[in-house]
Amino acid sequence: MKGLMMNYQLTLPTIMRRAEMLHSKKEVITRLPDKSLHRYTYGECITRTKKLSVALQQLGVKAGDRVATFCWNHYQHLEIYFGVPAFGAVLHTLNLRLSAEDLEYIVNHAADKVIIVDQVLLPLFDKFKDKIKVKHVIVIPNAGQPVPEGMLNYEELLAAGDEKKYVPFEGDENTAAAMCYTSGTTGKPKGVLYSHRSIVLHSMVSAYAEGLSLLESDVVLPVVPMFHVNAWGLPFTSTMLGCTIIFPGPYLDPPSLLELFENEKVTVTAGVPTIWLGILNVLDAAPGKYNLSALRCMVVGGSAAPAAVIKSFQERHGLSILHAWGMTETSPIGSLGILTGEIQKEDKEVQYAYRAKQGRPASFVEIRARSESGLIPWDGKTMGELEVRGPWIASAYYNSEEEADKFTADGWFRTGDIVTIDSRAYIEIKDRSKDVIKSGGEWISSVALESALIGHPAVAEAAVFAIPHEKWVERPMACVVLKEGKTTTQDELNSFLAPHFAKFSLPDAYAFVKEIPKTSVGKFKKSVLREQYGGSA
Ligand code: AMP
Repeated sequence: MKGLMMNYQLTLPTIMRRAEMLHSKKEVITRLPDKSLHRYTYGECITRTKKLSVALQQLGVKAGDRVATFCWNHYQHLEIYFGVPAFGAVLHTLNLRLSAEDLEYIVNHAADKVIIVDQVLLPLFDKFKDKIKVKHVIVIPNAGQPVPEGMLNYEELLAAGDEKKYVPFEGDENTAAAMCYTSGTTGKPKGVLYSHRSIVLHSMVSAYAEGLSLLESDVVLPVVPMFHVNAWGLPFTSTMLGCTIIFPGPYLDPPSLLELFENEKVTVTAGVPTIWLGILNVLDAAPGKYNLSALRCMVVGGSAAPAAVIKSFQERHGLSILHAWGMTETSPIGSLGILTGEIQKEDKEVQYAYRAKQGRPASFVEIRARSESGLIPWDGKTMGELEVRGPWIASAYYNSEEEADKFTADGWFRTGDIVTIDSRAYIEIKDRSKDVIKSGGEWISSVALESALIGHPAVAEAAVFAIPHEKWVERPMACVVLKEGKTTTQDELNSFLAPHFAKFSLPDAYAFVKEIPKTSVGKFKKSVLREQYGGSA
């Protein structure tokens, strides 16, 4: 028997309608390139979104066409987030930290028809603009500055769009709405295509209490760039709920962020560990300088959040970190480090250890992990490659046959992350499969060593990777950045690690360096380190 519920399509225009009807007076705030703050309402945002939608169609953009953005986090980017899918076209966010070569490849592979660029980013755009085949370049202008010849002015384009002519996309919810290429360090970037349905469902689950627990009353500041997996969905989720949203523009340095947290009474923020390490240093150097009493949750993902960092924020500054795991291919939320009622009754140190794990799968995300001997038991010890499935997990890459083996015959996505899963369903990431250190047949977790090293008072950052060894095949080595004015030695660091690790896991060698090379989204570039210290990338 068929159910008798409405066949209501989960599309992005439904979120726009809700924003218009329920919270048109709530604010969207942006730090502009001149550092001043731009403020307007969701009502004004949605009107401009409709104008953009109409104007793009007048330019010849059709449903299914890709419209790329090369932008920081700001209000116009939010308009594009909705204005492009609003008529069935596909928003394609470009990572502005990638090389010109990668950007050229990505734009041409996606066959973007239009690219929208921040005027402040034109010097970066110039490096690949002659190699891409887009029909129109639209520039988001700096106040008062003329747009280069041959390019369109975003504000003039919007002014010419009549919002009354806007017709919302009302097609199949499985239609593509957005796309993002992986920022992988090996192979060519691969395109992930999100659908209207996957974005709406991801927004619902990230908002709910077992997700980020967001409410209309929240003030959300995504530090994570809008080109990194849709800023983890926060622009969509915040617009759905009517949270005040704050965009930091190009200013991601700790003092600029802390000032916004304090002045705008930010309640929820999100970013990669590097950002929070910078913030922690500033807070430690000037305790009490900033009033962050409104800040109830700092979401950390993209790389592991070490227990020592979670504990330092909590105990020294009363700030709560929520650890989450995800990937471009998982929209991105896959798991969240929320404590179960049972763990909440346990000792504080046990709770910190759980909060440093990558957490339990979000609703509708199913997990399993596989080693060479088959699916692993959920014993918290056996390691295997994590596989996931769910309504916002990629089922294939865009126009790519190469990576077909990432998708299993029975419909799961192979993440490439090596994990343990414990009896309470908490995932712990031990490594990327290519970064795991195989010493004498045993696997050593570089992530566990890095998280422990960061707990040493002299260590600001640590990356652990494999170096070749005649007898053991591979051995761990650590590159360490010291905190200003601090010193330590290899022996001292290994004695610090010794109580928590088997002896064979301790690094054989240390290099004390000024900086660790990082990828476009702030992860350690271990391939570069391996090569530098005698191994293969
Ligand atoms: P990306 O697609 O750029 O977001 O990268 C996804 C990868 O980042 C994952 O496969 C993990 O290897 C890593 N990652 C994401 N979140 C975490 C986390 N909380 N802890 C450790 N690694 C993470």
